[in-house]
Amino acid sequence: MPTAVLLAIVGLGLAPPPGARPRLLVVITVDQLRPDYLERYRPQLLGGLGLLLREGAVFTQAFHDHAVTETAPGHATILSGRVPAHTGIIRNLAGVQDSTAPLLGVAGPGASPARFHGSALFDWLKAAQPGARALSVSRKDRGAILPLGRAKQQVYWYQSGSFTTSRYYADSLPGWVRAFNAQRLPFKQAGATWSTLLRTADYPEPDSESYEHGGQAFTFPHRLPLDSTKAADTLINVPTMDSLTLAFALAGVRALGLGGRGSTDLLAVSLSTTDAIGHLYGPDSREIHDQVLRVDRYLGWFFGQLIVRYGGAGVTIVLTSDHGMTPYPEWARAHGHPDARRVSVDSLVHDVNRELDQRAGGGDWLLFETGLLLVPARDRLAAAGVNVDSAVAAVATRVRAVAGVTRVQTVAELGRADTVADPVARRWWHQVPPDAGVELVITLKPYSIWDAGVAIAMHGQPSDLDAHVPLIFWGRGIRREVSGARVRTVDIAPTLARLLDLTPTEPLDGRALTEALGPGN
Ligand SMILES: [Zn+2]
Repeated sequence: MPTAVLLAIVGLGLAPPPGARPRLLVVITVDQLRPDYLERYRPQLLGGLGLLLREGAVFTQAFHDHAVTETAPGHATILSGRVPAHTGIIRNLAGVQDSTAPLLGVAGPGASPARFHGSALFDWLKAAQPGARALSVSRKDRGAILPLGRAKQQVYWYQSGSFTTSRYYADSLPGWVRAFNAQRLPFKQAGATWSTLLRTADYPEPDSESYEHGGQAFTFPHRLPLDSTKAADTLINVPTMDSLTLAFALAGVRALGLGGRGSTDLLAVSLSTTDAIGHLYGPDSREIHDQVLRVDRYLGWFFGQLIVRYGGAGVTIVLTSDHGMTPYPEWARAHGHPDARRVSVDSLVHDVNRELDQRAGGGDWLLFETGLLLVPARDRLAAAGVNVDSAVAAVATRVRAVAGVTRVQTVAELGRADTVADPVARRWWHQVPPDAGVELVITLKPYSIWDAGVAIAMHGQPSDLDAHVPLIFWGRGIRREVSGARVRTVDIAPTLARLLDLTPTEPLDGRALTEALGPGN
């Protein structure tokens, strides 16, 4: 919706509560949204992203200040105001996995916030306003769960064509979720086509890079499978998934009557498709360009619906991302980074595990994920007569020799590093709690990425490419502002706490960005 229309309908909604507090706080996380996209495509951003850029408090130099720039650690940080070393969400895939919390009504991995430590923004809101409620929605379990910390609220994510939740939150799906699922919208996408939104001439990027999408079907138009079940699974790789997520979120806003009881309610939405498309086609592709334009249009529609409902003065919106993105190594090598490569230590770790099996019996003694080398059963290895320190030192020596690796450090070494002058050491220090079983942290050379087993683009490094994210506040209580000050994603929760006049119940790692807040805050 064009801004003029948005502005024309501002004020039609219910009167906002007194003070600076909105009826609804909306936190939008666009998974893997690099801030340079907003500059690159800015003349074409005519929807929700354009609105926030024109009218919001825009922080152009916002960074995650932790090392494993992945979805779960990022989402845990955004509304907790704390780094992974303090939230306990240090890994991505294992971040919310929980076999004791099965999904409702659909097969898929169980999930809960069991590993999340401490409180988050919604807990502080609920303590101050006991009637406050929250709805959190994403395509991904970790994107829906972690923004609310451990709060048992309305939390839904997408699995095999349906939105669901886990037993941690509920014993059955409410009627509005079942009614939404009963439309079977994802299955009706069988055979649907994704073409560019604008004319081909509006996209300067080449559309024929053969390294994209596994070397197959890497040009527009992209088609979903004709089989409806396969289409519902493949939907996660096309823009329509984000539009579906927002439609589901709006159905929840209406069914729950959010913002209608005098307290501030929280709506968190994490849109996952930018991440899927960035991995498959890369951050320099025509596909990512088109995806960002579509997110802009979808958000324009969504914000318009919220403004009709609450009035412009009834809503505060925050937009950010859980991490950035490193280019395809193939692209990087052609653009001034000849050493960019995919790096794997998987076979090395496998070999060491087999050597340890011979000395201590069978077990996954070493565990590796995104730069973290863990020894979860250190005591059992030691009891079997293995000198764990010297075994880890031997692994460190072998990993240092792997092409593409630039640093291998122990957690003790991080504690002695200059975490002020050395951002990589600081990001690792913020990543790893002392009791997490992490023995080594491994950093790659710039523009190199961890090998995911398939030839895709990746993020996850303690680099500015992967840590730099957009941060924009808009709406009630927010002043129009563009700031180039270096700020951090741990500042988001303290800023919102200040806006809503809340008292965080534990020490935070960030500070309130008072320059974003209007008079009276
Ligand atoms: Zn990703």
